Amino acid sequence: MTSSLRARAEQALRACGAADDHPAADGELIARTPLDGSVLCRLNPSNPEQVSDAIDQAHQAFSRWRTVPAPQRGVLVRRLGELLTEHKADLADLVTLEAGKVTSEALGEVQEMIDICEFAVGLSRQLYGRTMASERPGHRLMETWHPLGVVGVISAFNFPVAVWSWNTALALVCGDTVVWKPSELTPLTAIACDALLRRAARDVGAPDGVHRLVLGPGPVGEQLVDDPRVALVSATGSVRMGRTVGPRVAARFGRCLLELGGNNAAVVAPTADLDLAVRAVVFSAAGTAGQRCTSLRRLIVHASIVDTVVDRLADAYRQLRVGDPTEDGVLVGPLIREQSWAAMASALERARADGGTVVCGGERLDRAGVYVTPALVRMPAQTEVVREETFAPVLYVLGYDTLDEAIALHNDVPQGLSSAVFTLDQREAERFLAADGSDCGIANVNIGTSGAEIGGAFGGEKETGGGRESGSDSWKAYMRRATNTVNYSDQLPLAQGVKFGG
Ligand code: NAD
Repeated sequence: MTSSLRARAEQALRACGAADDHPAADGELIARTPLDGSVLCRLNPSNPEQVSDAIDQAHQAFSRWRTVPAPQRGVLVRRLGELLTEHKADLADLVTLEAGKVTSEALGEVQEMIDICEFAVGLSRQLYGRTMASERPGHRLMETWHPLGVVGVISAFNFPVAVWSWNTALALVCGDTVVWKPSELTPLTAIACDALLRRAARDVGAPDGVHRLVLGPGPVGEQLVDDPRVALVSATGSVRMGRTVGPRVAARFGRCLLELGGNNAAVVAPTADLDLAVRAVVFSAAGTAGQRCTSLRRLIVHASIVDTVVDRLADAYRQLRVGDPTEDGVLVGPLIREQSWAAMASALERARADGGTVVCGGERLDRAGVYVTPALVRMPAQTEVVREETFAPVLYVLGYDTLDEAIALHNDVPQGLSSAVFTLDQREAERFLAADGSDCGIANVNIGTSGAEIGGAFGGEKETGGGRESGSDSWKAYMRRATNTVNYSDQLPLAQGVKFGG
């Protein structure tokens, strides 16, 4: 098994043109597969000098790239999209090998990269500024959007490639260059993406330095965080990481885009279509083995239907196949590492101590790798453990009597990423989406909390960090805005009617 996994990783890297990038027999950065915990290869982490050089090269490339017209910058992203399409299966294989995603989800993640490239190419002709009415005669008031600089992308293990592409495709059409520090748990997918982008740059004649990859754990990321040549730090990961990164970037007046942890909930109201709700809940809570930032972690169900919903969910949970994510019919792959199981087991213990009942799941399978059955836990109240994000498949179920109570419970957590309501009552649905409804960056009706499309802005409030990436007008975070006043008259009227001298 182990040697065939290694061979598969080598084959995918070779296909992406990255076979000879970064390997080192005695390297300290170890690429492992959660499929059985074995080592895929060893790599050298980037040392401080290499990180500084990477920033320098991206910084130099920026001075050229920013003057290339945006639609021409789009040509590079279009080529990247073509290469991603060509290598969709190779990249998906690496995502499965490194992050443990089932094949369909791994392919979906690469499709998301292709989609954002298409979006960014369109955007490259639509970086619109406004023209405003000037209060002065013979004057024009407008805004222009300019490239920002080097974007430092720090990404998490659970979306090892999509998050990079959300940032990079937009940054490139916006005229920025990128230095990427992927999760130390998923270096191989990053090496493959970097090779594909370098090839795209060669194919279209873009400067090689538009993208640089640096590898290693947190301290490598910290160098991007502290370097004034990095104009924007886009960091995706835990709240713990964001607590360090945010203030450090702010201290040097850099820009920060934080995409941090979630503790996502769905409300199931009495009129809900339960067939649909149960399917959506199972995908959101157990899919990706509960390792999405948008995974459903809390289910708030009306008291009149909570027993029925729990019974139906337990039936569905018992049918979930857990195992090798490349096998047909398997819906739940492994957790990324041992610590994830330790966190899950500890959360379940605390939930029991708080009076919770584990209805089903929560067990570890006896095989190499960290394979667990998703846990469904009935809780008497939203205790401290429920208010925390445990990055594993644990779904807590709580009851409610009134919609006000459900919304209060829903919002009473430190995080604010994704949310959903299941109801056929329009008043309830609209209330959930209203100003005094869900306080999350994503609020859905009759659809689960996970699986967002790239067209909308993605991100969340409170401890989730406030950043927005991907679609809508998220591109504005990657540019700087200049307000321009042009006087085409021969007079010099001052604003607000101010007189100064004759
Ligand atoms: P993590 O915080 O352990 O690591 C994320 C990245 O930050 C890694 O590249 C890591 O090396 C880097 N890092 C860690 N400490 C750092 C520091 N001090 N300075 C600079 N970089 C540092 O997170 P993880 O375990 O890889 O991912 C899971 C977490 O990410 C969950 O909390 C999940 O909710 C969150 N996440 C959020 C989103 C989102 O869009 N909101 C998306 C994916 C994952």
